[in-house]
Amino acid sequence: MDLRSDAVVLFGVTGDLVAKKLFPALYELTRRGRLDLPVIGVARSRWDHQQLLTAARKSVLEANGQVDDEVFDRLAGNLTMLSGDYADPTTYQRLAEALSTARRPLFYLAIPPAVFTAVVDGLAGSGLAARGRVVVEKPFGRDLATSHELNKVLRAAFDPERIFRIDHYLGKEAVEGLRVFRFANRIFEPLWNAEHIANIQVTLAEGFGTEGRAGFYDRIGATRDVLQNHMLQVVALLAMEPPADAGDDAFRAEEIRALTRAAALSPATTVRGQYAGYRDEPGVPADSNTETFVATELRIDSPRWAGVPFYLRTGKLMPGTATEVVVEFKTPERNLVPSADGAEPEPNLLRFRLGRHDGITLSVQVKEPGAEVTGTSTELPVDFDATLGHRREAYERLLDDALDGRHLRFAREETIEQEWRIVEPILDLSAPVSSYPRGSWGPAEAATLAGRWHDPATR
Ligand code: NAP
Repeated sequence: MDLRSDAVVLFGVTGDLVAKKLFPALYELTRRGRLDLPVIGVARSRWDHQQLLTAARKSVLEANGQVDDEVFDRLAGNLTMLSGDYADPTTYQRLAEALSTARRPLFYLAIPPAVFTAVVDGLAGSGLAARGRVVVEKPFGRDLATSHELNKVLRAAFDPERIFRIDHYLGKEAVEGLRVFRFANRIFEPLWNAEHIANIQVTLAEGFGTEGRAGFYDRIGATRDVLQNHMLQVVALLAMEPPADAGDDAFRAEEIRALTRAAALSPATTVRGQYAGYRDEPGVPADSNTETFVATELRIDSPRWAGVPFYLRTGKLMPGTATEVVVEFKTPERNLVPSADGAEPEPNLLRFRLGRHDGITLSVQVKEPGAEVTGTSTELPVDFDATLGHRREAYERLLDDALDGRHLRFAREETIEQEWRIVEPILDLSAPVSSYPRGSWGPAEAATLAGRWHDPATR
C-alpha cells in the first residue's frame, strides 16, 4: 500500500455533500486519531476562516446532535479556506502554495459533475495532480459514453491507482456484510441458485422528496441517481460467483463478471413514475418527464440464475425510508403442512436491511399453536446495532481508505461502465412517466411487475 495522504483538499466545501457527510466524517476521523493533517476547503464563495468553522461545526452538530469541543478544536486547527474560480489557473497556483509541505494530497471533488473536468485540468496544469490522489463522486457521467470520457479525463491527469470513484454503498458495513453472509456461512450458499430461489427483490425507498434540490434532481432522475450505481452494486454482491481466493482482486473480478452477465434492462419490463406535485417544485419544468421512481426486472445470464428475476425498485416519497434485499425462496415441492386457512404456505424470505436499523430477518414456517398440525409464518430477526454494536459511517470509512490508498471499497472503472451498459436502454425514455400518489409504493403498473413485492418495514 502507498503512504497515507498528508493533506485533504475539499473542492465544493460550501456544498451539500460536505455539510451532510464530509465534515462529520473528518470530525469522526479526528476523534479516532486518524486525521491530523491540513484540510483545505476550496469554493468560489468568498468564505472567511470563521465561516468555514461555523459551517463545519453546524454540520457536525446536525449529524451527531452534539459537538465535543476538544475534538472539534483539533479539526478546526487543521481547516483553512481558499476561494477561487475553477477555470482560473491562479486558483491552483495558490492551492499549490497552500499545500507547500504536502507531498501526497487527496483531492476530493465534492462539486457538480459539470465542473469535474475544469478542476482535473487545473490540477494537472499546475502539477498538483502528479503527486495527489483524487476522489470522484457519483453520478460518474450521464451514460456509457460520458462515463468513458470522464475516465479518459481522469486517467490523463492521474495514475489509475490514484483515482477513487465513490459509490458510498460500498462503504456501508451492511452492504459489505453481504460478502460475509454469503461466503462465510455454509448453510446458505448451497441454496443460492435458481433451484431454490424464486426471485430476488431490491427496494431502495426514500420517504422524502427532492429536499429543495428539485432543479438539480430533474437533470438526473432515479435511474441515474441510485439504480445505476447503488442498486446494481448490491445486485453484483448478491449474484456473483464465489471468488477464486480471499483476496480483494479476486473478489472484485467476480463482481464485475456478474455484472457482465446481466442483460441490459428493457423498457418493456420497466415502470417509471413521478410523484404527484413534482412538476410544481421550483426548478422543475412543467412538462418534466424525469422519473422519481423506477421499477424494473433484471436477468442474469448464468446457470446459477437461469429463470430467476431480480426485481429492482426505487423511489422518492415512498411510505418510508428503507433499503432492503428480499430473497424469496421457492416453497417446498410437496406441501405436507397446510396452513390453518388452507392457503399456500408462505415462502421463506431472507431479508437484508441495508439502510438505517440494518440487520437480517429470516421468515420461516413454524407450527401454529393448537390441536391441528398447521403452519404459520414467523420471523427470526437480527438487529445489527443491538447485537454487534455501533458501526462506522460509510463516508468516514471511505475517506479513511482513500487517505490510505485502499481501493477495495471504491467502484472500478469497469464496474461503472457495466452499470451504464445495463441501464442505458431505460435512460431518457420518451414514454410519459406515470404519476403516483405521495407516500405510496409507486404507480399501479409497478405493483404487477413482480408477482408480489415484499415491502420493507419502514421506520
Ligand atoms: P452542490 O451542493 O450542488 O455543489 C457543491 C458546491 O459546488 C456548491 O456549494 C458550489 O460552491 C459549487 N458549485 C455549484 N455549481 C457550480 C458551478 N457551476 N461551477 C463551479 N462550482 C459550482 O453539490 P453537492 O450536493 O454537495 O454534491 C457534490 C457532488 O457529490 C456532486 O457530484 C454530487 O452528484 C455528489 N453527491 C452528492 C450527494 C449529496 O447528498 N449531496 C450524494 C451523493 C453524491 P461555490 O458556489 O461556493 O463554489
